[in-house]
Order: sequence, then structure tokens, then C-alpha cells
Amino acid sequence: MKMKSHSRRKFMKNGSQVVLVLLLAPQLIACKGKSEVAATAVMNEELKKLMDFSISGDESYQIRNLAGNLWTFEERGGTIGFDVSDDGIAIVDTQFPEQSQHLVDAIREQTDRSIDLLINTHHHGDHTSGNNVFKKLIKDSVAHSNSKKNQLSRAEGSDKVDQIFFPETVFEDSWKTNLGSETVLMNYYGAGHTNGDAITAFVNTNAVHLGDLVFNRRYPYIDKSAGANIQNWIVVLDKVLESHNTETKYIFGHSDNGYDLVGNYEDIKAFQNYLERLLEFGEKSFKAGKTLEELNAETTMIPGAEEWKGDGILRSLDAVYQELS
Ligand SMILES: [Zn+2]
Repeated sequence: MKMKSHSRRKFMKNGSQVVLVLLLAPQLIACKGKSEVAATAVMNEELKKLMDFSISGDESYQIRNLAGNLWTFEERGGTIGFDVSDDGIAIVDTQFPEQSQHLVDAIREQTDRSIDLLINTHHHGDHTSGNNVFKKLIKDSVAHSNSKKNQLSRAEGSDKVDQIFFPETVFEDSWKTNLGSETVLMNYYGAGHTNGDAITAFVNTNAVHLGDLVFNRRYPYIDKSAGANIQNWIVVLDKVLESHNTETKYIFGHSDNGYDLVGNYEDIKAFQNYLERLLEFGEKSFKAGKTLEELNAETTMIPGAEEWKGDGILRSLDAVYQELS
């Protein structure tokens, strides 16, 4: 069920806070089946605390307000961040085509304004496969130059290359633009999860999308085939923390079950500790002459970083041995 158009106009005039209400409203109405109840409910500021909803059918997604006009979209793949205001719309990452379409539909419930900017944090398919959905909707698209190179080389030989959308603008060290009152600042601090991870700050909101530079309490993918570097990843996170403050809010690409896809300074320090302990553990095992096979067979956690879980510990061990070899 759609909101009545006069209601939509009214909400849009009132600014960002009510965008959430609009995003929530159709789904709440659909879920509850009683429009009066839902209509009353959506007017309640307490709804901001609910911040999630499902759509009918097999798919479900979650849209949450992080701060100001900045939102997260979670469904399948790396977390999407998006900023919507009367001054501009920016999207950070695109998951897969179906997910991107869900996001476009949700935004179109709010505004017909064209989308100003599409950002890719890095080239991995769970962050860029939905790019094509935005192809005709955006004015500009940006990624680090290595991210585009990686995306192009992965696409080589693919029979679907004409369906892949590559960012048009690339940067080396930093890139900046203004969307009305918001400043979008992208930085690159060298290799980490890949050799092309961009850090996207929404400066005035004091929030940052880190792409896959943080896996929250989940074993990370360390893409050595795309130039990942554990040692420098630790330095990259230092630079992230130095460039922001303890109040800054962060969006992470992935988290383990029960852990959030958004977080703060402490979460970044905890992940940095994981990388440090991984490197230390790998070095010790390597110097002791242990083979990767032996290490894989006997390791169930990284000493000193026991909070990290999931299925990917072997990928971490493999990556650290590659780095030390
Ligand atoms: Zn990734």
C-alpha cells in the first residue's frame, strides 16, 4: 500500500527525520494489515528505535538510520550506505542487482530526485554487482583506481561484461565533493582487505563507510589475489582512527551473527587487534617451521582475538602465510 501523495509531500517538507517514517510506513501497513493502527504508529517518534522492517515475499531487507541523512541497507552482500536529502543522493556499494532494485524502489518512495553519486568501496562482487541498476540513474560514480582495475581484470573474459558497470571517476589519494550541506570525502591509505579500499566519510554527519576494512567479530576475507596486505591493513586502520574521533560512526561491510554492521572506535580497535594477533600467531608458527597444513589442522581460534568467529579462519591463516613467505 502506498502513502497518499499529499502525505508524502508533507513529510518531505519536514526534512530528514521523517524519511525513516516514509521508508517504514508502507511496510508497516503491509505487515499489520490495519492502516489506521499503522498510520498512528508511524507518527510516533519511538519508531526511530525500531528501525527495521520486512517486505513481503521471500526477500527481506533492513533500512536503518545511522545519523542525519545517512542510512544503511542490509540484505545480501556488503552493507550499503546511502545519504538522501533534498540536496543530493549518494549510494555507497550496491550488493547484487535484486538488492539494488529494492534500494532504488525504497528511495523512489521518497523522492524522484536523480541520484548524484555512486561509490564503490572496492571491487568485490558482493559490493558492486548491483552497479548496473544505477547506470542510468546516476550523475557520477567513483572508486579508487585499483578497485576499477581489479573489477576490469575480473570481468575480462566474462560473457556478461556488457552487464557490468564500472565507476567512471577514479582517484589515487583522495577525492571530495559537496552534496548540498554534506561533504563526501574519500581517502585511500594503501592496501588492506584489497589494494583498492576506499574510505568514504560523510564529513558533516561524522560517519564513515569502511567497506570491508572491518569485519565485525567475523573472520575476514583477506584477498591476496587483489593485493591485500595484513601489515598495512593495521596501519590503514590507525589512519582511519587518527582522521576521525571517538564520536564517529562507522559502517562495516560484514559482521558475524549477533554483531552489528555499524559500530565505533572500539570496534575498529578490536578488529585491528585481530589482525595484529593473527600476524603474531602466523609469525610464531612460521618460525617454528609449522606447515600451513599443520597449522590449519590444529587452529580453531587466533590466540588473543577469541571474539572472532565464523567459517573463515583458514583464509586468515592462508593469507598470513602468503604474506610471510
Ligand atoms: Zn570485500
